[in-house]
Amino acid sequence: MKKIIAANWKNNGSQEFVLQYFKYLLENINLNNEIVVFPPDLYLSNSAFLIKDNKCKSPNDSESSIHIGGQTLICGSGNNALTGGTNLPMFHDNGCTYILVGHSEVRSNLKEDFKSHLKAAIKDDFQPILCVGEIESDIKIEKLIEQLGDFDDITNSNKIKRVIVAYEPVWAIGTGKTPDITDISSTHKFIKTKLSEFSSFKDKDIMVLYGGSVNLKNAKDILSAPHVDGVLIGGASLDVKEFTNICNLKI
Ligand code: PEP
Repeated sequence: MKKIIAANWKNNGSQEFVLQYFKYLLENINLNNEIVVFPPDLYLSNSAFLIKDNKCKSPNDSESSIHIGGQTLICGSGNNALTGGTNLPMFHDNGCTYILVGHSEVRSNLKEDFKSHLKAAIKDDFQPILCVGEIESDIKIEKLIEQLGDFDDITNSNKIKRVIVAYEPVWAIGTGKTPDITDISSTHKFIKTKLSEFSSFKDKDIMVLYGGSVNLKNAKDILSAPHVDGVLIGGASLDVKEFTNICNLKI
């Protein structure tokens, strides 16, 4: 089965960066896997424009394409009087089909209302990726159960075909540290078991991505581990050659 390889650019990029990034990616990607790129909001429209109708898109396989996603939802579905706000129809209008919800940087800095954002994203036909992860390793299970609870009353929605969670231990994000592969694997299994307990989704429709200091050196081992359905990459995704090489890995 194809893996999801996602690039979270965070607060990085420029119009020139966007242009060069997608030029290289489109010329060099094999599309063995499903790709999602999360540029900053101001570069969504141009990114979506550059990948639209690209030569890689296979009409017979909706998973064989590059998708664009929003990094953070500040407002929900509709217009309101929030200066600086961006709502879901705006993301849609700018070519997004995916949206990250609950990234730890957003949880701590913007106090995101994850549950309502997840609900709104699903209602408005987005594929959300819910990020969960412990801050310190010793409170892992309790923390994960609490965070997965954000999915509990919406996982029976028939608006999404798959539930996608990114397991991102906060201590591994941007630090160069990663958990043991066996630990990643058992945590992913735990997440799948928990989610299937309170939803109608079966294991095969629950995808768990790993995020936290993934790079070209460790990607193959992580992606080959049982229960790992993909990776969410921050820092290393900014190097388009490294990101493309990870996307082209055959697992
Ligand atoms: C992230 O921020 O989602 C992330 C995984 O970052 P990094 O790959 O830089 O650790």
